[in-house]
Amino acid sequence: MSYHVNEKGYYGEFGGAYIPEMLYPNVAELREQYLSVMLQPDFQSEFRALLRDYVGRPTPLYFAKRLSEKYNTKIYLKREDLCHTGAHKVNNTIGQILMAQRLGKTRIIAETGAGQHGVATATVCALMGLQCIVYMGEIDIERQAPNVARMKMLGAEVRPAKSGSRTLKDATNEAIRDWINNPVDTHYIIGSVVGPHPYPDMVARFQSVISEEIKYQLLETEGRDIPDYVIACVGGGSNAAGAFYHFLDDERVHLIAVEAAGKGIDTGESAATSVLGKTGIIHGSKTLLMQTPDGQITEPYSISAGLDYPGVGPMHAHLFRSRRAEFISITDDQAMQWGLELSKTEGIIPAIESAHAFAVLDEKKFKPTDVVVINLSGRGDKDLNTYIKYFNF
Ligand SMILES: *Cc1c(COP(=O)(O)O)cnc(C)c1O
Repeated sequence: MSYHVNEKGYYGEFGGAYIPEMLYPNVAELREQYLSVMLQPDFQSEFRALLRDYVGRPTPLYFAKRLSEKYNTKIYLKREDLCHTGAHKVNNTIGQILMAQRLGKTRIIAETGAGQHGVATATVCALMGLQCIVYMGEIDIERQAPNVARMKMLGAEVRPAKSGSRTLKDATNEAIRDWINNPVDTHYIIGSVVGPHPYPDMVARFQSVISEEIKYQLLETEGRDIPDYVIACVGGGSNAAGAFYHFLDDERVHLIAVEAAGKGIDTGESAATSVLGKTGIIHGSKTLLMQTPDGQITEPYSISAGLDYPGVGPMHAHLFRSRRAEFISITDDQAMQWGLELSKTEGIIPAIESAHAFAVLDEKKFKPTDVVVINLSGRGDKDLNTYIKYFNF
């Protein structure tokens, strides 16, 4: 069984490029060029240098001593929270801005829900001096004022999407419309392993630096370059794809993908796509998504904005369907308690998204000799207001 994309852009039955005809030339250009561009030595050297000097890579693989003692197993944290801008998302935006430059693009568009991907995109546009337009639902602009301010400070233009529910999917529609109207000079930076082929594969490759580092870091500390478990939260699935990537073909490594159960799977306020999703098409790819019986995408819910997405990328749909990865859903309450637990046990305040991954320690039993790597996808600074409200600090 292959867990990588095939030449047609599919992971098993999932993936592909289900896009309006007017987007064919844009997507075809990217599909025909992305692999050869990524393999160019000057692309690789510039990408690697920026990851090192600008993002701050390699991020540490930290042995969490107190947590390991408490759970009687060996727990390592991959510290993506220490990346510039506070999460793994910048690994991908650095890669895509270099791709855009190689393709001769001068104008960057993106869409964002919570604003984290918008900030990561605005950051690399400032770095390269490229024009940046971020589409964002009008409601999200109100809810995410600090990230809107960050994007503006970074020189981006934030354009409100005023149609529909005025949230992420409407912002996506606006971004696609923009790309159709500006096919020559514009690159669309997608923020996770979602969208039409080749985006899921391209984003997974940019994020795969995470598992590349885990391998040699584990070899140094444990004398073997594979862990027994890799655990990562899944919104669209990019941090998980990066943490899993170099272990996909080695079945000795157990992969655990953690989704947001929100207020509970059966409450109607959830984002647990593996449990609730059916095959459908979203953002140009065939994947698992939450939908009504007549195929309307249902509004997801999670306390963490980054996991509040109605689907998962096609790679994860395939990992679920093929049972290569185990999917576990974690409620808001469990995640919030783990935000506090990690803060008090290790002195690290995690993003609420990342806190979901830690709750697996309560759900599964690990052996004392097991090496468990948890991908700490981001830091909790952005979530302080949510923590304050929840715990009444
Ligand atoms: C955006 C985000 C996520 C979810 O996105 P993926 O593409 O699934 O990784 C997870 N954690 C943090 C900190 C994020 O900002």
